Amino acid sequence: MSRTKIIPIPVLGKHAVNAYLLLGSRPVVVDAGTPGSARTIHDHMARHGVDPADLALIVITHGHIDHFGSAAELHRLTGARIAGHVADLGPYRTGRVREPYFPTGPMGRLMAKNKKLHVEADPFDPDVLIEGETDLTDFGIAARVMPTPGHTAGSISVLTDDGDLVAGDLVANSFMGLIPGRPANPPFHDDPHRNLASLREMLALNPTSLHVGHGTPLDPDRVRRWADREQRRLDRLATRGRLRTRPRD
Ligand SMILES: [Zn+2]
Ligand SMILES: [Zn+2]
Repeated sequence: MSRTKIIPIPVLGKHAVNAYLLLGSRPVVVDAGTPGSARTIHDHMARHGVDPADLALIVITHGHIDHFGSAAELHRLTGARIAGHVADLGPYRTGRVREPYFPTGPMGRLMAKNKKLHVEADPFDPDVLIEGETDLTDFGIAARVMPTPGHTAGSISVLTDDGDLVAGDLVANSFMGLIPGRPANPPFHDDPHRNLASLREMLALNPTSLHVGHGTPLDPDRVRRWADREQRRLDRLATRGRLRTRPRD
């Protein structure tokens, strides 16, 4: 199969919130931004010479409003099916995120007060229900959906055969991309330890680049060094009993 091109779609700011256009023999979109972003994504596709009616699939990485907010809307605009993991069905079917958010630091504690994170999105029922590793060849790209739980229970990433990892909120850039290229936690993780384990599993597959929901692409070696430091930090917090984790449903 042909190479898969990864094109970021800025949904908010230059790269504060990204969706992605994956171009193989057919186009696939990963993530759908905040509510009201479908037209932006649609127009971006058209600018890259893609007929939005040809969109093969909309993959939603997880049940946070800045990633699934416009999924239903983009489905209505393009007719494309939506793929999402079964463990985040609650948010998808109700259009509401699981509350409360679990901040990873001061930034998250501040952001949890932002009303925009608590708005409702149009609900949807994923046409393609992800339960395990899923081949996307039938949708026109040489790639697999990989379950990467931890940020939320139903978090997934897309790994192309070329080694590009479209990773949602598995890791982010510092301050939502204000310091490009520096790995950091996104503002929230339901289960920081489990998320880090998922990140390490993906790094073990030797991706060439990590394309994230917040910020610019990250260099895997830099993420590896950050992950080692983060592991030590989390272990220290856990020893002191100060690691808050959402109880499993
Ligand atoms: Zn998220
Ligand atoms: Zn996010």
